[in-house]
Amino acid sequence: MKKALIVGTGLGGLTTALRLSTLGYDVEMVEKYHQPGGRLNQLKADGFTFDIGPTFFSMSYEFKEFAQFCGIDMPFKFIEMNPLYSVNFAGSTRWYTIFKDLDKLAKEFGDVEPNFEEKMRKYLIKTGRLFHDTENRIIRRNFDSLLKFAAALASVPPRHAPLMLRSMWSEMNRHFSSYEVKVIFSLVAFFLGATPFDTPAVYSMLTYTEMQHDGYHNVEGGMYQIVEGLMREINKRGITVQYNTEIVDFREQGGQISALVDNNGKQYTADVYVINADAAWFRGKVLRRQAFSNDKLDKMKWTLAPFTMYLGVKGNIEGLHHHNYFLGNNFKEYSSKVFKNSISLDKPYYYVNVSSKTTPQSAPNGHENIFILCPVPDLRYKPTWNDSEWLATNIMKDISSRVGYNIEANLVSKTVLNPQHWMQMFNLYKGSGLGLAHDLNQIGYFRPHNNDEKFGNVFYVGASTLPGTGLPMAVISSRLATEKIQKKYGS
Ligand SMILES: Cc1cc2nc3c(=O)[nH]c(=O)nc-3n(C[C@H](O)[C@H](O)[C@H](O)COP(=O)(O)OP(=O)(O)OC[C@H]3O[C@@H](n4cnc5c(N)ncnc54)[C@H](O)[C@@H]3O)c2cc1C
Repeated sequence: MKKALIVGTGLGGLTTALRLSTLGYDVEMVEKYHQPGGRLNQLKADGFTFDIGPTFFSMSYEFKEFAQFCGIDMPFKFIEMNPLYSVNFAGSTRWYTIFKDLDKLAKEFGDVEPNFEEKMRKYLIKTGRLFHDTENRIIRRNFDSLLKFAAALASVPPRHAPLMLRSMWSEMNRHFSSYEVKVIFSLVAFFLGATPFDTPAVYSMLTYTEMQHDGYHNVEGGMYQIVEGLMREINKRGITVQYNTEIVDFREQGGQISALVDNNGKQYTADVYVINADAAWFRGKVLRRQAFSNDKLDKMKWTLAPFTMYLGVKGNIEGLHHHNYFLGNNFKEYSSKVFKNSISLDKPYYYVNVSSKTTPQSAPNGHENIFILCPVPDLRYKPTWNDSEWLATNIMKDISSRVGYNIEANLVSKTVLNPQHWMQMFNLYKGSGLGLAHDLNQIGYFRPHNNDEKFGNVFYVGASTLPGTGLPMAVISSRLATEKIQKKYGS
């Protein structure tokens, strides 16, 4: 029986563990944090339960494929979201509700965007074609060579080529005229950790995935049920997980890794090593590769960092929905400058999730749990965060005035995580929340590969390797890594 050691219990690590165990591998896992899940994690404080990162997911069929592969029932229950989310612009009491039904959506935007329904229908047809023309050709595939990647790109119908050359924002400009519509339907760029101004228009296909294809899903009982469900299966199969254990070094022999070494000097041996730590960071920090030195990593394009707050608040806040976006009126200026820390965060843009609206057990009776995510510059551009309290208070005051409820006065629990915390907790490079960005020179064959360049028995899974970031991508990533391992080592 071949043995696999998996470094990291993020979604990519957990799903790879179960896939390899299904193929007959003896699997062992090590994890730096004190509990499993990676960014898909949970915080319990003062009687409140919070999902600390992801709050919804798309492409549910990837989870179904995974469960089928492993011969297990779906390890959690999910609920399709409709409406998807609500959006408020500063200075206005109006909320735009994003329904999946086009006729309802048209009522939301009819007065700001003439012929909205017709324009949106056209936009969805175009982005839908793009999605279906690339999903199996590019997104869900391994690429062993540049030639194969180039051939895959060449197989995409040429009508989509111009979308590689312009930004998502300029694509919005071609379809819509109102500020509100352009801003709201380009928020999907932030789900990739970037802004619509620096995200290629090819990713406008995400609007099709959210609005029409498979949509977004909440998880019954909270997002951490995904991890709990996977852990039940991991435990059933006798896969051991060693927590508070960070891999910091390696031993090599004959072009292979012969052992990985943890922070206490303990050595772990296996036939195959699967790295769920960030694929670029691990190569630089642990394997000490020149191509991934700090200087080189700094020059790569990383996604925005998270500034997150977890608030327990007394009362039921009528003005808040389950998924809310609070935006300003200077979108272009703000989003083009926030990444490099060249605009003040005194009027920040942020997302608010109140899971107690649909999962009452996540807050004590008569209370709400409020999770706030504000995308901010990573530690390359803003290395110090001694203004965290200022920013947290600023955001609380802003929400309070916009929903007409004094959050600070009713606060019973508060936890704030800035990019330094995120970096320390999960080894996220410079606190970047979603890993490497998805510019055309950082996807497909150009993304850090899921097999190591030097060591034949080392593979990678997760956000900074193929295919990219987000929960369904982590599940696809586990399939792609498993395919490579199976090809080389068999079942
Ligand atoms: C604030 C936030 C909100 C998000 N919202 C969404 C959302 O709504 N929907 C969505 O689909 N996606 C969302 N994402 C993205 C999603 O969370 C990630 O893409 C996904 O969880 C990444 O999974 P992964 O497999 O790459 O592993 P990770 O979650 O990165 O896990 C890797 C694990 O490896 C461990 N590790 C690292 N280095 C070592 C080492 N040297 N030794 C031992 N262990 C190590 C880490 O501690 C970690 O547990 C969000 C992310 C963030 C940060």
